[in-house]
Amino acid sequence: TQRLAGKIAVITGGASGIGLATAQRFAAEGATVVIGDLDPVAGQAAAELVDGFFIEVNVTDKEQVDNLFDTTVQRYGKVDIAFNNAGISPASDDSIETTELPAWDLVQDVNLKSVYLCCRAALRHMTKQGSGSIINTASFVAVLGSATSQISYTASKGGVLAMSRELGVQFARQGIRVNALCPGPVNTPLLKELFASDPERAQRRLVHVPRGSFAEPEELAAAVAFLASDDASFVNASTFLVDGGISGA
Ligand code: NAD
Repeated sequence: TQRLAGKIAVITGGASGIGLATAQRFAAEGATVVIGDLDPVAGQAAAELVDGFFIEVNVTDKEQVDNLFDTTVQRYGKVDIAFNNAGISPASDDSIETTELPAWDLVQDVNLKSVYLCCRAALRHMTKQGSGSIINTASFVAVLGSATSQISYTASKGGVLAMSRELGVQFARQGIRVNALCPGPVNTPLLKELFASDPERAQRRLVHVPRGSFAEPEELAAAVAFLASDDASFVNASTFLVDGGISGA
């Protein structure tokens, strides 16, 4: 289907994993995609793959985030969809006993402050347009906890979830929807890196997934395309779990 024909979409973290799969899905559904990413090589390659446009951005930096959305609007005249998805998982142990403040601060900056900056920049344009769909990537851990002691990560994603709900309510009358995507474990470089140091942890995590396997990025992309589209016109301020049943178990 071409549910997103004529739509202009910004995707942060669009060079890899869930963001890259969503860029491909958005393009297949007719959208024009702007990839925002820290990685210029992978970002440029992703943009070429989807016939889109790449803008280098560190999502922790206000000027760079403003530039991402302002340049998009200068180039294409509007921004209909913001998929604020860039994020990191702490490489080493992230328990409350061991996490040091610099590591904590980095995770809050990349995962939470970034979403605040992206929403602010996107909303400036969307409120003028009187329309827009914002999808912020949280995680199932924001709802359930991680069960693997990821204190800075879980806290950052809880912030993303709460902020998305609040903004969804605040801007609903202006034709803008804001939803929090809460993925379960997805086979991406982020997850592989996390489990590489501790293969047993992958097994422990897998036990919690009722269907017995992690998601593929394309399965998340399908959910994001729905949230971005008018098919989701009454889906707002939601905690949109795409977790293979983890939350039900
Ligand atoms: P990924 O590592 O494959 O991709 C993340 C992308 O974000 C990369 O292209 C990276 O260059 C970019 N990025 C990182 N820091 C950035 C910064 N400061 N500025 C701009 N870009 C930056 O990861 P993924 O698994 O696709 O994760 C995407 C999102 O989904 C993240 O927010 C992650 O926390 C969340 N998530 C992932 C899983 C999972 O199991 N993979 C589960 C729940 C939530």
